[in-house]
Amino acid sequence: MKYISTRGATAPHSFEQVVMTGLAPDGGLFVPEHLPQFSREEIASWAGLGYPELALKVIAPFVDGEIPEHDLKALIDRSYANFRHEAIAPLLQSGHNEWILELFHGPTLAFKDFALQFLGNLLDYILAKRDQRVVIMGATSGDTGSAAIEGCKQCKNLDIFILHPHNRVSEVQRRQMTTVLADNVHNIALQGNFDDCQNMVKASFADQSFLPEGRQLAAVNSINWARIMAQIVYYFWAALALGGPHRAVSFSVPTGNFGDIFAGYLAKQMGLPIEQLVIATNQNDILHRCISANDHTTHALQHSLAPSMDIMISSNFERLLFDLYDRDGDKITELMAAAKAGQMNLSDDALGRARELFSSYRSDDAGMVETIRQVWAVSGYLLDPHTAIGLAAARACRRNSTTPMVTLATAHPAKFADAVRAAGYHDEPELPAHMADLWQREERYTVVEQDIAKVQQFMADNISA
Ligand SMILES: *Cc1c(COP(=O)(O)O)cnc(C)c1O
Repeated sequence: MKYISTRGATAPHSFEQVVMTGLAPDGGLFVPEHLPQFSREEIASWAGLGYPELALKVIAPFVDGEIPEHDLKALIDRSYANFRHEAIAPLLQSGHNEWILELFHGPTLAFKDFALQFLGNLLDYILAKRDQRVVIMGATSGDTGSAAIEGCKQCKNLDIFILHPHNRVSEVQRRQMTTVLADNVHNIALQGNFDDCQNMVKASFADQSFLPEGRQLAAVNSINWARIMAQIVYYFWAALALGGPHRAVSFSVPTGNFGDIFAGYLAKQMGLPIEQLVIATNQNDILHRCISANDHTTHALQHSLAPSMDIMISSNFERLLFDLYDRDGDKITELMAAAKAGQMNLSDDALGRARELFSSYRSDDAGMVETIRQVWAVSGYLLDPHTAIGLAAARACRRNSTTPMVTLATAHPAKFADAVRAAGYHDEPELPAHMADLWQREERYTVVEQDIAKVQQFMADNISA
């Protein structure tokens, strides 16, 4: 299996190269040259498999023999061994033919663990094989950083540096990152906001001369193909549990960077019968405006109570556009330049196709809080704010009540106490038992001025020999 860039100006890469590279050299994102296809009979034969076994079925064709199947199986097994629920991704019924797929039983209580536990193991395996070391550098507004650190803390062949905006992530989110005391883990609290953190990371990827001889940077954000790939699995998992592939299933996905829902789109293209895919956004609603009104103008970022979806431009949307424009790299280069300049318009044809594939819905903080309150009042089930937006979207956009509708629950409510309190829930939402001592654990992080030279000096001083 070869991987090509959405901008069309990069030579095809192997799976391992793509995992190590992140962004393609031409500025595009990597996608597989051809998607694996599964017949209904084959999908049906997977009914009853455990989560890691199913993951192996879905992932193996993308790896296509570059990693021996026995090793790939071991990597996958290890990646889901740290989840705190026997089912890994349990389904809970929330209404008539309406379900919640709980994706928050991993080590950091958000769905990002599904991909980042695997990516950490995968990177370490590839590096060991090549006798190579890399430096992971990433910026986080909250969930990605802790999931990446948990995924990488045991890796022998890499150092990880995560930048978070000083005093601008929640206490739980900060402690989930800063209480990991492994020698290869470094938290930088940057005196700036999330965009400043991201700019530091971008500038460092563009000029890596500050690194010691022979080292390079690797990316763990959702432009890394391996993250998307790992997320395809749970769409098959949920559908199989609800009667698929003999019956179609619909999904509603709380969306920020368009990574998670893009994985759902891929599952559908690979042969899984999916009826509806609902894009759920908060007040940062560029995707909802794009699908509903062909309005892809960038607005100023609004801070919401569902902060993991606070984005201005969704980077993985480019991967969808590549397909909507029949994989024309030049066209995508043009479109992305327009998007970057602040405004992009889709052709009638592309928009029509997007609307066939996706529904969309926007819920602001008030609507989200009302959903948490209402579901709590009816059933005593506490939603996290992102999931609440997903559920509101599922209910608003659903076309067919005989098709199961699954909302992806992307985080545990204890991570987002502000939203839960705003919904009138007076107790502090409780952390699961394995994290009950989070407030007592020792923290380690370094506050660094917003100065690229200081950030890079700190990294150079702390990269292992
Ligand atoms: C990252 C995140 C999202 C958004 O996922 P994307 O793949 O960026 O669309 C939604 N909810 C939570 C809790 C997250 O951490």
